[in-house]
Amino acid sequence: MATKLPKVPVVIVGMGWAGTIIASELTKAGTKVVGLERGKNRSTQDYFMVHDELRYAQRYEMMQDLSRETITFRNTEKVKSLPMRSYGSFLMGDGLGGAGIHWNGQNFRFLPYDFEIYSKTVERYGKKKIPDGMQLQDWGITYDQLEPYFDKFEKMAGISGEKEQNPMVGKRSAPFPVGPMKKSPMMKMFEDASKKLGFHPYVIPSANLADAYTNSDGISRAACQYCGFCERFGCEYGAKADPVVTVLPVAQKTGNLEVRTFSNVIRVLHTGSKATGVVYVNTMTGEEFEQPADVVVLTSYVFNNVRLLLTSKLGKPYDPQAGTGVIGKNYAYQIVGGQTVGYYDDKEFNLYMGAGALGSAIDDFNGDNFDHGSLNFLHGANIRITQTGMRPIANNPTPNGTPKWGKAFKQASIKYANRNLVVATQGSNMAWRHHYLDLDPTYKDVYGLPLLRLTYDFEDQDKELVKFMATKTSAIMKEMKPTKQETANVITTYNIVPYQSTHNTGGVIMGADPGTSAVNSYLQMWDADNVFVVGASAFPHNSGYNPTGTVGALAYRAADGLLQYLKKGGGSLV
Ligand SMILES: Cc1cc2nc3c(=O)[nH]c(=O)nc-3n(C[C@H](O)[C@H](O)[C@H](O)COP(=O)(O)OP(=O)(O)OC[C@H]3O[C@@H](n4cnc5c(N)ncnc54)[C@H](O)[C@@H]3O)c2cc1C
Ligand code: SF4
Repeated sequence: MATKLPKVPVVIVGMGWAGTIIASELTKAGTKVVGLERGKNRSTQDYFMVHDELRYAQRYEMMQDLSRETITFRNTEKVKSLPMRSYGSFLMGDGLGGAGIHWNGQNFRFLPYDFEIYSKTVERYGKKKIPDGMQLQDWGITYDQLEPYFDKFEKMAGISGEKEQNPMVGKRSAPFPVGPMKKSPMMKMFEDASKKLGFHPYVIPSANLADAYTNSDGISRAACQYCGFCERFGCEYGAKADPVVTVLPVAQKTGNLEVRTFSNVIRVLHTGSKATGVVYVNTMTGEEFEQPADVVVLTSYVFNNVRLLLTSKLGKPYDPQAGTGVIGKNYAYQIVGGQTVGYYDDKEFNLYMGAGALGSAIDDFNGDNFDHGSLNFLHGANIRITQTGMRPIANNPTPNGTPKWGKAFKQASIKYANRNLVVATQGSNMAWRHHYLDLDPTYKDVYGLPLLRLTYDFEDQDKELVKFMATKTSAIMKEMKPTKQETANVITTYNIVPYQSTHNTGGVIMGADPGTSAVNSYLQMWDADNVFVVGASAFPHNSGYNPTGTVGALAYRAADGLLQYLKKGGGSLV
């Protein structure tokens, strides 16, 4: 029997970027908030002397414990799903700050095209361009409407970027609050090569601070040291914007936020279409608690946002056969194929230095920035070169034809350790009728609740996109004049085993129509007006970018919506 606690105005489930942004905005406005986080407490001190690749990058110190709770996966409905018991394709965050602690900090805004993808595609190419089964949907909001919230996230986090407006992306109302990261030799080579080909290179906007910065909440942080232990690690300098060094202290200073760690939410309680609170388990003692609340905010990442709604029977589950329902609909991922590696006999680079977001990119082949009239795919990819810090255990690049062991392998491995560059892509991924999330009929977590099941595969659209992008990465690399170069231009079936990207999206998507979306443009549920579901779960498709800039902007907008909702005392915000 759960112990019933006193009611609070707002309870937030999950304390990553989305949860802490909302906590900070609400508490600053005087609202009392309880934040429930299933993992442990974290602070910058935890990352002193953290440069231990085995512990953090190989053994996933900061990630969700897959022996307690995971997802199951199958490529299609024809095969049996099995639980993911070791990490592969993507990594799930755990603990205060969530995956925001160990992210790279590459910070993008999705394109104006993304938010109106259906209308703009039909306008330019006609309805026939959209293949059968592809579920393109407008987001119920435009880039211009979201722009002030992008700006807010960037100013809070101190996003470092170039002053000039990139001509390939949405118009900015203000420059980045901090100047760009340093340009390393490989970035200059990429820039020169791209310019020569007529493209528009820029330095990737970075949440690793290029310079010391104080934001409008009075949070001061130090500049990045380019230490190279960023992706999968916490930052010991506080230079990487993460929830614990930016928004959380602001919320805590108000005295209006109570964070309870080791608190795993297992159910959203509701009477019909009104949530009444949540039930959580203290993971240290096994004790159950009921936390009543006027408003419930789910910010527990794509997978748990969907799972909590499905196990709590809140919202209409998606049915891929009938094409009805919304919870679990439009899962999408990130397509990362099409890269070209260059090996240099005559040049050496310092690849073990770097920063999570250090790099240069082009958007000439992203979104609808190029004509798709004669192409068999929609959208595109961000093409980039990054210097995130090579991890010696994970990386051992050698040219094709090198033996896989023995003396010749060792010689090539030593020779090329600092002599290889990669021009890579970050490809968009469209939603399909048969890609979705639902509850697994067989496998359960430690609490006896069904695991979430992922049904997903690559489509011809993705294969064509990769083939096309490979010609571009190859052309850029050729201009960068390596001794030899190799392009990977084929993807086949999605394989969950090798790491690809932790950019999972969809499942509780936003839109203007309650029949085809789960939440409105404030991420308020159509079916329960006192439940807000925030995060990349709201994306109706995934763009050719990392997601967090857009997650941050949507979280700020959801916070605005929540404040309006609390003031009004209920009702739909649109
Ligand atoms: C290695 C890596 C590198 C990345 N690099 C980039 C990058 O460069 N740029 C970019 O844009 N994005 C990047 N990402 C993605 C980025 O980290 C996420 O988009 C972002 O952190 C998502 O924030 P969130 O708050 O929505 O979710 P999360 O950070 O996942 O936070 C959700 C929180 O909810 C908690 N939770 C879950 N279920 C429950 C429950 N039932 N009860 C209580 N608490 C619960 C979790 O423990 C977690 O703390 C990267 C991700 C990884 C793993
Ligand atoms: S690269 Fe920079 S931001 Fe990243 S962990 Fe090192 S010092 Fe921090």
